[in-house]
Order: sequence, then C-alpha cells, then structure tokens
Amino acid sequence: MPDKKVIYMDNNATTQVSDEVIEAMIPYLKDLYGNPSSIHTFGGQVAVALKEARQSVAGIIGASDPSEIIFTSCGTESDNAAILSALRSKPDRKRIVTTRVEHPAVLSLCQRLERDGYTVIRVGVNSEGLLDLRELAEVINHDTAVVSIMHANNETGVIFPIREIGRLAHEKGALFHTDAVQSVGKIPINVDENFIDFLSMSGHKLHAPKGVGALYIRRGTRFRPFVIGGHQERGRRGGTENVAGIVAMGAAARLAEENLDTEQIRVRAMRDRLEKGIIDSIPDVKLNGHPVSRLPNTCNVSFEFVEGEAILLLMDQLGICASSGSACTSGSLDPSHVLRAMGVPFTFAHGSIRFSLSIYNTDGDVDFVLEHLPGIISRLREISPFSAEKAASL
Ligand code: PLP
Repeated sequence: MPDKKVIYMDNNATTQVSDEVIEAMIPYLKDLYGNPSSIHTFGGQVAVALKEARQSVAGIIGASDPSEIIFTSCGTESDNAAILSALRSKPDRKRIVTTRVEHPAVLSLCQRLERDGYTVIRVGVNSEGLLDLRELAEVINHDTAVVSIMHANNETGVIFPIREIGRLAHEKGALFHTDAVQSVGKIPINVDENFIDFLSMSGHKLHAPKGVGALYIRRGTRFRPFVIGGHQERGRRGGTENVAGIVAMGAAARLAEENLDTEQIRVRAMRDRLEKGIIDSIPDVKLNGHPVSRLPNTCNVSFEFVEGEAILLLMDQLGICASSGSACTSGSLDPSHVLRAMGVPFTFAHGSIRFSLSIYNTDGDVDFVLEHLPGIISRLREISPFSAEKAASL
C-alpha cells in the first residue's frame, strides 16, 4: 500500500489495475498455468481464454476479425513491430512520414532508421498541437512505405484526424500505422472507418497491468514478425504468451468498452472543472493543446515563471501525482519535444504540468488539487528569479 493518501492524476503514464481485471487474471497465475500451445485439454483451456481476450481487444477498436490482433509485450513493441514490418514489406520504398510529436517509441526508432538510410519526414504542429494536413499531403509520396502518426498525444491529449491521414497514406500506396496507446479506452476508435493498417495499444494505459500490449494488423496486410521464434500468434510473434497479462488486457478492454460513454462524460466533467478552476484562480497560466480536439482526461497547463519540477515536488509532498512537460528524467532540463514543436514560449514551457485523470478519480480529488495548487504556485513565484515583476524590472 502507498504510505500516504495518493491523488493520482498521472494516468497517461500508467493506470491503476481494475479489481475486475485482477480477478480475471488470478486463475491464470494460479491454477490454469498450462501452455496455450499444448495439445492437452489443460493447455486448451488457456487457449480458450486467449481467444476470448483477442475478441474483446478486437471489439474495442471495431476490428471485424479477432485474428487481426496479436499480443505483444507493450506499446513500444507494437510500434516497432508495425513500422519495421511495413518497411520490410515495401522494400522499394524508403520514406517514413511521421510527426515531431510522436512518443519516443516511434521517434527513436525513426532516428535509428534514418541512420540505416531511410528518409524520415517529421511533420510539425501548430501552436495548438494540430497537424497541417496540406503539409502532410505534400510529403507523402510514392516512395513512402509507411505513415506513422499517433491518434492522441500523450502529453497534451490532442487528437489527430486519423481518417484523413489514413486516406492520404492510402492514396499514395503507403501503409498507415497509428499509435493509439493513449486513445484506446478513452475515446471511440474504429479501424475500418479510418483506413488503418496497423494500430498499437498498451494494456497498462487502460487499467490492465504493465507488460502486455497488442497490435492490430489489417487482414491481408503483409506482416513480417519483429519477435521471431515459435508459432505463437499464428507465427506473427514468437514467445510463449503472457497469458495472465493477455487475459487482463481482454478484461480491461471489455470494461473500457462497456463504460466508454458514461465514464468519459464523468472524467471529462472532472477534467474541465479542474482546468477551469486552475485558470480562474491562478494568473499567468496557459492551456497547452487544442481546447476541443483533445482526450477527455488530459489537461496540460503551463505556469509562467516557475519550474515544472518544483511544482511536482511540492504537489508530491501532498500526495498529488502528475507529470511535468520537461525532460529532466532524461538528464536534460529542456522542455518536452511536444511543447517545443508547438512553439510554447520558453517561460511557459518550463512550467508545464500534465494532469491526466481516470475513472478512479473523484470530485474530492479535483477539490484537493484546486485547494492547494494556487498556494504552491504563488510560493514558487515568490522565490523564482524569473517572476513577472523581476522580469519587468530588468
Ligand atoms: N505510445 C504512446 C503515445 C505512449 O504514451 C506510450 C507510453 O507512454 C507508448 C507508446 C509506449 O507504451 P508502453 O509503455 O506500453 O511501451
């Protein structure tokens, strides 16, 4: 158990595992430990559980055939597997089109592929985090093997128009991969309506445990495995399956689908109240990301003249968990690549905080943050060498 009460608003980093999900997976950690590839009935029972999980995961993204889903170890593996397969299945094409605001699971791979001789085009975003579709249309050409563009951004929650993007990719004969790690379970998504060839998901972002992910591969799309080994996942991903994790992901997908409409109305209402409360009670605050085209759970705000890390530290003392937009964990205090791509001014970018809510938050959590955050910001501004008054007097 945590040592003190936690107000957890960092759900884009990871989520609490639902009790129902834990209950669903326990039998596969204890009694039903057979190998799903075994011929005996004991293993066969486990294979049935995998089949059901595959159906649930297919269901939440509107995939018509559960065999279009393979289970992986995480969202990162799904992203890597999709992009690498697309390149191998279109060996005559050497261009990858992506954006400047993708997760490192895509951006770091693209950097590596660039060193291997591929051309990588990274399309920018405007100050609200939106893509320019005309620019995108210009850079997708007949040399493009894959367009890899996320559905929703993990830092700002901004949602991209994947239907238009998928159409542009297909017009030039390119494959379309979307990283939907942040959107699945939070907003509806349908692979057939959006020209999607590959879609990445991750269990731990939707109340399943860490260590399980999934990749949708459109039926008929050639697929070259990333993890090469046995015949698991119909030869598309070697390695004995993480059975309990997969069962958990299936249960989480089922729950998320059932609760999508009602819960998202409640989560959105809490997020909006948090956001309005912050903007109304604290001066010199800026909302990052498009106000409407955004995940219902995400609020990314910048407080001018304060460091995000200092805000996090003081919130942490009160048990409030959120994230900052700077990359100090990687040893640099540069603002995040997403905020930089959006051109967020320097004095704001350093003081950005992401609050990401879930169905487990309560109105009381929002009240608690709104009660304490204004005091935290004014204390930090008093000691900041960069306060507005100090800047004006320079
Ligand atoms: N893609 C996005 C948009 C993410 O937010 C994340 C995780 O934060 C990932 C990919 C990686 O997922 P995983 O942690 O399951 O590897």
